[in-house]
Amino acid sequence: MLEIRHLSATIGDRKILSDITLSFETGKTYALLGPNGSGKSTLAAAILGRPDIVFSENTEISFENSSITTLDTHKRARLGLFLSFQSPPALPGVSVSALLRHALPTEKAIDIRSRAQTYASELDISKSLLSRGLYDGFSGGERKKFETLLWAMLRPKIALFDELDTGVDVDAQKKIASFLKKYREPEQCFVFITHSLSLLETFFPDETIVLGEGRVMKTGNGALSKTILQEEGFEESARTNTLQATPR
Ligand code: ADP
Ligand code: MG
Repeated sequence: MLEIRHLSATIGDRKILSDITLSFETGKTYALLGPNGSGKSTLAAAILGRPDIVFSENTEISFENSSITTLDTHKRARLGLFLSFQSPPALPGVSVSALLRHALPTEKAIDIRSRAQTYASELDISKSLLSRGLYDGFSGGERKKFETLLWAMLRPKIALFDELDTGVDVDAQKKIASFLKKYREPEQCFVFITHSLSLLETFFPDETIVLGEGRVMKTGNGALSKTILQEEGFEESARTNTLQATPR
């Protein structure tokens, strides 16, 4: 469904990503791993078309067989791509309800409200947050729960969750995982950028992708996530060839 070919990207005069070729399929779950600074968040932002990320000429990103390489972010979102932010920025003055109404123009305001309230209560988010500015005064855990709520509101075809489990207490992690499980439709694709197994226990990855220094260092099956996150770490994993890595 999402194909990335020869993606190289710079921000300002810094080259961040080099020749990344990956494909993501309908209904599958992916773990995108890599040490801090390896380019995971930049890759996710590049897929969504963050405007300050400049691609090399041979970069090609396609979604459902149409090129989206130069498409604006909001159009990618309309097509069904979703990114939850590692550190969602606060936007005082942008109300949650206004944001949702813009994002869901075909849904009645009353239905949007009622769905949002249902999800908020299932995620144990105070309903008062729904009438505040987006992320204005939200705690770290509340932000991540709210990103999860937005995912459910938007029902994207592919969701990239950038460290959805970071800075979230164990109970909240469980709540987020069971919420995702309840509302995930079989054809939806999940990509978890993570440093922990908490969400991967619930959503065992079909494929593990390991980034290092802006490149794809290794790919493997779901067990590779466990081996790296629980036992080996990235340096050891880069040295060993005990797991069959698929060259790209
Ligand atoms: P990860 O999510 O894997 O920790 P990032 O994608 O956030 O990694 O960052 C990858 C590299 O790109 C880092 O060296 C980081 O400093 C650099 N980088 C990220 N954003 C910018 C930016 N806006 N300008 C310059 N360098 C950036
Ligand atoms: Mg990151």
